[in-house]
Amino acid sequence: MSVDPQISQAIIPVVIIGGGAAGLAAAIEAGQYFAGQTTLAHDSGSYPVVLLESQNRVGRKILATGNGRCNLSHVPLTDSDYHSTEQIVPNQILRRFDGPKTLDWFRSLGLFCRIDDDGRVFPYSYQAAAVLDILRLKIEQLPVSVLTEKPVTHVKREQQGFRIFTADGTTIRAHTAILATGGLAAPAFGCDGSGYLLAQALGHPIIQPFPALVQICTQKEDVKGLEGIRIEGTATLEWQNRPLRCETGEILFTNYGLSGPPILQLSRGVQQVLNSDKPNGLTIRIDFLPGLDEQAIIGWLTERRNQNPERPLEHLWTGLLHKKIGQMLTKKILGISLASQAGSISDDHLDRLARAVKNECLTVTGTRGWREAQVTAGGLSAAFFNPETLESTLIPGLYAAGEVLDVDGDCGGYNLQWAWSSGRCAGYEAALAVCSK
Ligand SMILES: Cc1cc2nc3c(=O)[nH]c(=O)nc-3n(C[C@H](O)[C@H](O)[C@H](O)COP(=O)(O)OP(=O)(O)OC[C@H]3O[C@@H](n4cnc5c(N)ncnc54)[C@H](O)[C@@H]3O)c2cc1C
Repeated sequence: MSVDPQISQAIIPVVIIGGGAAGLAAAIEAGQYFAGQTTLAHDSGSYPVVLLESQNRVGRKILATGNGRCNLSHVPLTDSDYHSTEQIVPNQILRRFDGPKTLDWFRSLGLFCRIDDDGRVFPYSYQAAAVLDILRLKIEQLPVSVLTEKPVTHVKREQQGFRIFTADGTTIRAHTAILATGGLAAPAFGCDGSGYLLAQALGHPIIQPFPALVQICTQKEDVKGLEGIRIEGTATLEWQNRPLRCETGEILFTNYGLSGPPILQLSRGVQQVLNSDKPNGLTIRIDFLPGLDEQAIIGWLTERRNQNPERPLEHLWTGLLHKKIGQMLTKKILGISLASQAGSISDDHLDRLARAVKNECLTVTGTRGWREAQVTAGGLSAAFFNPETLESTLIPGLYAAGEVLDVDGDCGGYNLQWAWSSGRCAGYEAALAVCSK
């Protein structure tokens, strides 16, 4: 795509690099700021905001979020749902552009939302495409030029701001630049970590990135024969027998280990331990029946045994637990044939089975990689960005927003919320900075 001479010859007030959730939010906020100005405090004619996107369309990742339903926020938001080496940055930005303000913002753009019983916010239509459409339609009404297939390869500091180079040889001059390039997670959507390199070349430190919200790998034997089984259970991540985090919900057994929302929540902790100097001793303890205590389970098993003493043990758990899980536990704990009669096992055996069903321990070997991860932990050190404006404290005029920063949230709408909040903040502040000059 050739670039309009008005863009290539002017110094653009705000150039946004990356057209994901954060970049689009920044474009709307900056575009609205300039649309509200009666006189333009710049020389870029009708293009005060330019968004450069490497792919052939903006917002592709948004379409894949929430299994195509886009879990765009969460009610409520708490500081502890976010992780950063500079916690003040997400805390302050999310107070300024908080959850209720985000819902009002989306409503003002024309998107009606719904909140499910777990507090997750979705578009009312449950269509991620509706979210992207609403953002794109708004941008079309604003003085924002969106240029696709423009991967930025280099950002150079100049006296009046920046010179931005793209792979096809285009150069654009900018008073301010917003880095919204995302991280390394899910490279299929255009994220290759290039934002880190652009910022590093300008002197910005990086906190070593690692995949988060990702499936967990266990010893193969621990999941053998259980592939494809889904259960509602509780998973506790333990390190050297100390509990680190506990989550309840749908757990999926796979050929490499475990998946499902509770498992994704635990994955950050796995990576933290593996990256530490004491990486051994990680396990996941699964409670297959979190709604029942051991006594209730013993009572139920005792009744089953006493009522059907001649039945084979393979049916002992039938009616309470997934058949394959029940058989796996019975074989493992009692070490006797599943063809044995139920009446042949003692009360002590039943106690051991009840304990086991609430304490199945799997050895953790790692996590899946960038391709499967939903989010990047680590990234541009947030310590070098003003927690009120997201402007770099090292390079005036440079801003960052979204996943490129060393901020990540839990599963449940927190990461998109961060993208909207930080994108809006950076977009507004960059436009304000140019106009206040
Ligand atoms: C499968 C999946 C499901 C998810 N579901 C949810 C969910 O339901 N709720 C939730 O809160 N979070 C979810 N997430 C996480 C969430 O989507 C991201 O955290 C969020 O989209 C990050 O937004 P961003 O704008 O910072 O980065 P991205 O969305 O990654 O956007 C970055 C953009 O920058 C472009 N780019 C990169 N480098 C350059 C360059 N050098 N030049 C120009 N352009 C560049 C990329 O092509 C991309 O379009 C999900 C993630 C995945 C992968």
